[in-house]
Amino acid sequence: MSQTHPGQQRTVIENAAIATVDAQDTEYASGHVVIAGNRLESVGDGPAPAGLDGVVRRIDATGHLVTPGLVNSHHHFYQWITRGQAQNSILFDWLTALYPTWARIDAGLVHAAAQGSAAALLKSGCSTAMDHHYVFPRGGGDLLGAEIEALAELGMRFTATRGSMDLGEKDGGLPPDDAVETTDDILAATESAIERHHDASFDSMLRIAVAPCSPFSVTTRLLTESAELARAKGVRLHTHGSETAEEEAFCKERFGMGPTDYFESTGWLGEDVWMAHCVHMNDSDIDKFASTGTGVAHCPSSNARLAAGIARVPDMLAAGVPVGLGVDGTASNESGELGTELRNATLINRLHGRPDALTVRQALRLGTMGGARVLGREAEIGSLEPGKLADLALWKLDGVLHSSIPDPVAALVLGALPPLTLLLVNGRPVVENGNLTTVDESRIAQACANAARELASRG
Ligand code: ZN
Repeated sequence: MSQTHPGQQRTVIENAAIATVDAQDTEYASGHVVIAGNRLESVGDGPAPAGLDGVVRRIDATGHLVTPGLVNSHHHFYQWITRGQAQNSILFDWLTALYPTWARIDAGLVHAAAQGSAAALLKSGCSTAMDHHYVFPRGGGDLLGAEIEALAELGMRFTATRGSMDLGEKDGGLPPDDAVETTDDILAATESAIERHHDASFDSMLRIAVAPCSPFSVTTRLLTESAELARAKGVRLHTHGSETAEEEAFCKERFGMGPTDYFESTGWLGEDVWMAHCVHMNDSDIDKFASTGTGVAHCPSSNARLAAGIARVPDMLAAGVPVGLGVDGTASNESGELGTELRNATLINRLHGRPDALTVRQALRLGTMGGARVLGREAEIGSLEPGKLADLALWKLDGVLHSSIPDPVAALVLGALPPLTLLLVNGRPVVENGNLTTVDESRIAQACANAARELASRG
């Protein structure tokens, strides 16, 4: 499976605790990882095999835990420059407050916001980003291209989606009419984004998915034809689903059924679909997701911030629903860190009243293999196994915040987010000792401050 060849550059990590998140949840108390080029060559107990050639870096990782790089499954990068607003609102009121501001973004602002969002992800151990961009103001420039360029500069693996809204207020939708596009324009732009950017290869740094925003902001025709387009092109489908009680009431009133039945009627259940939130799901909804292989992006902090409710993740996992972890946009989760979502997912799911509702190892799986599965990349990323891509995080656990917790996975998930000594994406170090290696962080900070000020000044 490995495509390494003699003379390839190798990095050797030794003396680390390792949580592989493979199918057996194999862990090593003191093991090694060998990276050759952009692939994992060997992962195992004890020191690395002797006699390796081409070793350019050897890391003594004593006191550290190695995990797969985390995989984010839901985000809205542009929200990085509209954080901290509508602080005490439920989803519909929060959206209504923010749509007019969002309707004035452009490619330059999206570039800055994408780098701010991606920096927060990378610095919290996330190696694969996902973005759901659905606001495309007329004359705003190439917004999708701007965020793709922003992530490439940072060296991050990326699933970008071409999102959309075509159901404005005058047609009974929630967004203002100047924030939506026409159905025909959306379908044409989406097809063009796939043709221009989608890379289906094993090593791909960039995939495209198709992502109409939500049942209350898109037409039935857009849902149906988006699903047909994605399947014709062999790309995945993403949307928001069953997020709030208000969305459920909207669907029942407008379509005469709940969100999951509505998605089923539009061709939106299947192994190539994943949806954000899925908070308000009854047993029948969960069964339909499980039997069709439809995935979920669980976003615990955002659901708490907007008082949406607690998703039934333990029931979904028991039924066999694929579940990943998402930060959601940073206007409803200002932290933007995926690493801290491991802890939040574990704690929030225990509020169902079960102390074992989500174990620390299940939480780590949601944030790694679970995300890889819903993004359709479980063969390539999400676990530390020979032949997979070299996306991994090296967490420092021998400092004062963690050294007294003997179980390294518990230290990572239940403790404070540990210092990130190293993050590799595709074999390349993109975070070293907590800092980005690819782009000057102070430059990103300044660009984001300027962008937030500029957007606010547009009235
Ligand atoms: Zn969202």
